[in-house]
Amino acid sequence: MEVQKFYTLPKLSYEYKDLQPFMSEEQLKIHHTKHHQAYVNGANNILQKLDKAHKENLDIDIKALLKELSWNIGGHLLHTLFWENMAPPSTAGGKPGGMLGDAIEKEFGSFERFKKEFSQAAITVEGSGWAALTYCMQTSRPLIMQIEKHNTNVYPMFRILMVLDVFEHAYYIDYKNDRAKFVENFWNIVNWDTVTKRLEELIK
Ligand code: MN
Repeated sequence: MEVQKFYTLPKLSYEYKDLQPFMSEEQLKIHHTKHHQAYVNGANNILQKLDKAHKENLDIDIKALLKELSWNIGGHLLHTLFWENMAPPSTAGGKPGGMLGDAIEKEFGSFERFKKEFSQAAITVEGSGWAALTYCMQTSRPLIMQIEKHNTNVYPMFRILMVLDVFEHAYYIDYKNDRAKFVENFWNIVNWDTVTKRLEELIK
């Protein structure tokens, strides 16, 4: 396998127009080609700076660089998960069955209760951030994580099953400042097959 030393923008498995009417072509295209690309570029720039500093034994501001690296790698990886856990509404939405459906019911009492808590987590992120459904391998619990920016409040080692981006750049073209409406509509484009597969691969 060829060793990849830098990050690349992943291709989407659907067209930019395919998440309509819940996410417009313009909104998704800008989000993917401009915002996500900027995190890829940002992370790669810092890696190049580190490469150069290591090769030429240069002084660097390690604190500032690592902070910026965390922001950009977090942004890249979360967006990659986000695109994959959405799908065109004709094949998405509803509720998960199988192992994931069972785990959610066991932890939250019901899918409806989970949906409400996850939505609240997304709506109440201070400033920019994400809501994530995660899984703890030690306790076998699916837990919600409310991520500020791309990298704060993260539980280390927890695996991420599903994310929802609530940066304004994710919804402003379509929803203006109505984050709650965007969150409500997200449920129509959740790709539960992907989210369920992520859990199955963890605990098979
Ligand atoms: Mn985003």
